[in-house]
Amino acid sequence: MAPNAPAKDFDLAIIGGGIAGLTLAIALHSRGIKVTIYEQAPKFGEIGAGVSFSPNAVQAMKICHDGIYQSFEKVCTRNQWPEKKKVWFDFLDAYGGEDEHLERSTLKFVVSNSLGQNGVHRATFLDELVKIAPEGVAQFGKRLKSLEQSGDANSKYVMTFEDGSSAEADAVIGCDGIKSKTRQLMHGSDHPCAQPTYTYKYAYRGVVPMAQAIKAVGEERALNSCMHLGPNGHVLTFPVNHGETLNIVAFRTTDKPWKNSDKLTAPAHREDALKDFAGYSNDVLGLLKLTSENLDIWAIFDLGKNPPPTYTKDRVAIMGDAAHATSPHHGAGAGLCIEDSAVMAELLADEAVKSSRDIEAVFSTFHEVRKERGLNLVESSNRIGNVYEWRAEGVGSDFDKMEEEINRRNDVIGGEDVDVSEMCKEARAKLREKLASS
Ligand SMILES: Cc1cc2nc3c(=O)[nH]c(=O)nc-3n(C[C@H](O)[C@H](O)[C@H](O)COP(=O)(O)OP(=O)(O)OC[C@H]3O[C@@H](n4cnc5c(N)ncnc54)[C@H](O)[C@@H]3O)c2cc1C
Repeated sequence: MAPNAPAKDFDLAIIGGGIAGLTLAIALHSRGIKVTIYEQAPKFGEIGAGVSFSPNAVQAMKICHDGIYQSFEKVCTRNQWPEKKKVWFDFLDAYGGEDEHLERSTLKFVVSNSLGQNGVHRATFLDELVKIAPEGVAQFGKRLKSLEQSGDANSKYVMTFEDGSSAEADAVIGCDGIKSKTRQLMHGSDHPCAQPTYTYKYAYRGVVPMAQAIKAVGEERALNSCMHLGPNGHVLTFPVNHGETLNIVAFRTTDKPWKNSDKLTAPAHREDALKDFAGYSNDVLGLLKLTSENLDIWAIFDLGKNPPPTYTKDRVAIMGDAAHATSPHHGAGAGLCIEDSAVMAELLADEAVKSSRDIEAVFSTFHEVRKERGLNLVESSNRIGNVYEWRAEGVGSDFDKMEEEINRRNDVIGGEDVDVSEMCKEARAKLREKLASS
């Protein structure tokens, strides 16, 4: 991949090579900016689950680098029936009430958007991104431990890693996820934002062969995205791997605290899932029966209670989950990571940015333009998760109110009016004003 813009005279370090770090590195490299990813794992890798992207994320991919969008198109799976191409989810009542067990979940309403459901298998998408990443962009086995400046305010940052090695860069961007070390180093390890908070929801995740899913719920519900709703639980499904497999995520609310906050997953069994969803329709139970006997449960943590007060300090910034880790109920956390990459890359590449001295203004502009969107996603995702599970005040199990609220909130995240190019343009104008007046 050849850079197509004149090189800037500074170099950047990205901590973490997930969706945020990798899309940012690709976007920066294509704009002629020197960048190295420091990743703690021995290689790039994602879990074998599904992730879906809303229209704003797809806009952001195109801005970052067309190759990212092409990679996504290559692996993306949409609803399989032509008449469902714009459907985000069919929302179904999966719980008939204590005395009325439902054979089938019943359709209540449909939520659509301009691109419908766009599901990818995480690991496959990441593999495609790695193919277009600049050669040698990442150093692996580098778990960030500390971060200091080597001299005065203009000096480089020295990153020290757990393996005892160190590296230097003019600026550092933490894309190191929900438990970000960069965020801890920026705000202090005893700051409330240093640790994410349990949302009292957990999820079982599975990817099952499509032929089996069709047997369990029929073609319409297996080949197209569905959200099965009930009290204190919801189960979403969408096809991935070009329709060969069905991604299943079954969420449950609990009043029990998560036992070990150092670990976001815990071993469980299929039987636990079946117990959690006893009383739900046979569609739901039939799908859960297809998952592996030994399943992990995923604790859903977020930064909703204690968001970081700022995304930047001097020439260190955080973005992606490191800045605004969210529960997944809007299906938009990874999409917001890619939006961050688009905005950050456009700011750093702006012609008004002449040297490393301008990076502080870039980062403070990034904070100013991204903070509200990050906060809103985290808050809205939390609320919408409760809407799905009949727990939201003022909504309860009223399906008309659910439909109205889901549409209204989705519009803010990725509706017709969300224009990522315009966001980048406004950010650049703000940056230029800031640099001109400094
Ligand atoms: C159940 C579930 C379902 C979801 N579904 C969706 C969905 O459908 N759509 C959507 O848009 N989003 C979804 N999300 C959210 C999405 O997964 C995240 O927002 C996104 O993956 C975060 O990417 P990231 O790159 O910021 O962080 P991560 O993917 O966590 O990557 C961080 C990287 O940093 C590395 N790292 C961490 N610490 C260090 C360190 N100290 N030094 C060096 N490297 C380090 C890690 O190894 C990792 O590679 C879902 C989340 C969950 C939990």
